[in-house]
Amino acid sequence: MLVFNTQLELVSHLNAVSGKKTSVGFVPTMGALHAGHLSLLEQSIKNNAVSVISIFVNPTQFNNAEDLAKYPKTLEADIQKIKTVSDTIIVFAPSVDDIYHGNTVSQHFDFDGLEHQMEGRFRPGHFDGVGTIVKRLFEIVKPDNAYFGEKDFQQLQIVKKLVSKYKIPVKVIGCPIFREPNGLAMSSRNERLSSEERKNAAIIYKTMKQAKKLFANKSAKEVTKFVERTFQGNPDFELEYFQIADEATLLPCIRKSGSKKYRAFIAVFVNKIRLIDTISLN
Ligand code: AMP
Repeated sequence: MLVFNTQLELVSHLNAVSGKKTSVGFVPTMGALHAGHLSLLEQSIKNNAVSVISIFVNPTQFNNAEDLAKYPKTLEADIQKIKTVSDTIIVFAPSVDDIYHGNTVSQHFDFDGLEHQMEGRFRPGHFDGVGTIVKRLFEIVKPDNAYFGEKDFQQLQIVKKLVSKYKIPVKVIGCPIFREPNGLAMSSRNERLSSEERKNAAIIYKTMKQAKKLFANKSAKEVTKFVERTFQGNPDFELEYFQIADEATLLPCIRKSGSKKYRAFIAVFVNKIRLIDTISLN
């Protein structure tokens, strides 16, 4: 399996293969891979002649130094997991310097307001960091298709906006959320939970499913109250936000409209570890 640690090596390899008019699929990740990441790779392998995965913990998208410092780094184990999907996958695992050339700062983006909701509100600068790294990786890899998880639904919408605003010739494909057997959305951050916390964190998805049921005949405000009450009764969990929003604009649902698609979004702290989840409400 090919593993490249510099843009230069990756680009010269891709230039050699893309001359043969192959389609390139790309899966950007921060590593500590789980079955959710591997499902994106499966999609890429199925639909492209060449598949590239990047493993890069992007410092500019972290607004919390402790979260960045504690982010799991498991490159060797990641490579073994990638091999189980296919050993033809190209791994790009650059250093911070190779990407940022000593200037580890974000470009500023206007994503037409998508960046001000939820994750953007609670993680200042996060989507400038995401925009910066995704744009840079697209320029390096030049993929035809790029695969992103719906787990980070706001990020998926923002990447689609980035591509349309900058006219980047890549198709952005959203892929379903993979969950642990108890319903907890798979996340690299789950590795930091104790087994007890991981078990109890099933409450997040359970509450989201209850919220979905309630939303059939209750208002967004009433459903939000229900979720807030549920977490108030659980001192091990600290609800950061729960929001029911229009999928397209990500603006909060004030009054339901039959013509809109809605989605619930949640961020919860478990012992300082921040977990997010989302569910379609239509
Ligand atoms: P990350 O390594 O957390 O930056 O995630 C890399 C990609 O994997 C992103 O597009 C995520 O949305 C996606 N992803 C993360 N967790 C899951 C999951 N549980 N199911 C599906 N995709 C996921």
